[in-house]
Amino acid sequence: MLEAVGFCSPRTLKDALDALSNRQCRPIAGGTDLVPAIRAGRLVVAQLVDLGRLDELRFIRVDESQIEIGATTTYQGLIESEALNDRCPLIIEAARMVGAQQTRNRGTVGGSLGNASPAADLLPPLLALDAEVSLVSGRGERVLPLACFLLGPGTTVIEQGELIHHIRFTLPPQSARGTFRKLGRRAGMACAVANLALLVQQGADGVVTDIRLAVGAVAPTAIRLRQTELILKDHVWSRAVLNRTCQAASSECTPIDDVRASARYRRRAVAALLKQALLGVLEEAP
Ligand SMILES: Cc1cc2nc3c(=O)[nH]c(=O)nc-3n(C[C@H](O)[C@H](O)[C@H](O)COP(=O)(O)OP(=O)(O)OC[C@H]3O[C@@H](n4cnc5c(N)ncnc54)[C@H](O)[C@@H]3O)c2cc1C
Repeated sequence: MLEAVGFCSPRTLKDALDALSNRQCRPIAGGTDLVPAIRAGRLVVAQLVDLGRLDELRFIRVDESQIEIGATTTYQGLIESEALNDRCPLIIEAARMVGAQQTRNRGTVGGSLGNASPAADLLPPLLALDAEVSLVSGRGERVLPLACFLLGPGTTVIEQGELIHHIRFTLPPQSARGTFRKLGRRAGMACAVANLALLVQQGADGVVTDIRLAVGAVAPTAIRLRQTELILKDHVWSRAVLNRTCQAASSECTPIDDVRASARYRRRAVAALLKQALLGVLEEAP
């Protein structure tokens, strides 16, 4: 049972922001991270502000060039989005790998960002897409790159009274190919030992014109591997650079030993996931 935690369920964003201006308050969306943390005594909260009734935060908007995803969109909401399936399947691939159906029904995009787990499955694809985070408070809106939003395990730039409103990113060109890979200790329902998102564009001459590579669970936050990207960017893809690229990715990570895996294992996992991803995207794609 939860200790007597206060709870309010505002119907408008303004009311939610008013409630959150009180230091005692904390937002709750799906509760899949927050409730277990409170139950286990890892977190003490006086008052929860439920975001579940705020229609203003539940949307997926797509125009010619950009997608905006409201903070309370669930993983299942992502999976069911025709626009995302059509224009950005990378996000869908990652969302499908999250937990079990119950978790995907409850867990939200905003909750994933707010929780800032280094192993969160949605963060590598969003980093690869150069996503930006919109934060709102009684003072207005500020927008910043996801890479600047994440500070460390469980730590973000969110200030008291602020809410994640939505994330947004420019749609990759239709010709871009992407993939998400995850290694856990079990095939399903497992937190990532390492995960990886790769997005590549290649010219007709075989030159890799754009490459974005992001990894999770191998550093204090999910990160882009920008040095590794440079090995392939503006070069013709060939098997000759495969091992060098995977070794570079492995070196660029800064994993730690923990209950799920050793740092050494995680480095090797990143190299193996990247090898699969590169071969899948650059050699097996139509
Ligand atoms: C059984 C189980 C399996 C799981 N498996 C996976 C998995 O495979 N992969 C994975 O990535 N995750 C997994 N998770 C973690 C979890 O489901 C995700 O992190 C989820 O996205 C959290 O969303 P939520 O809406 O439940 O967040 P909540 O628990 O409601 O909130 C999480 C944090 O974010 C804050 N917050 C929520 N919304 C906002 C907002 N709009 N603005 C500001 N702060 C906000 C809260 O205050 C809290 O600090 C699993 C969880 C469980 C319980």
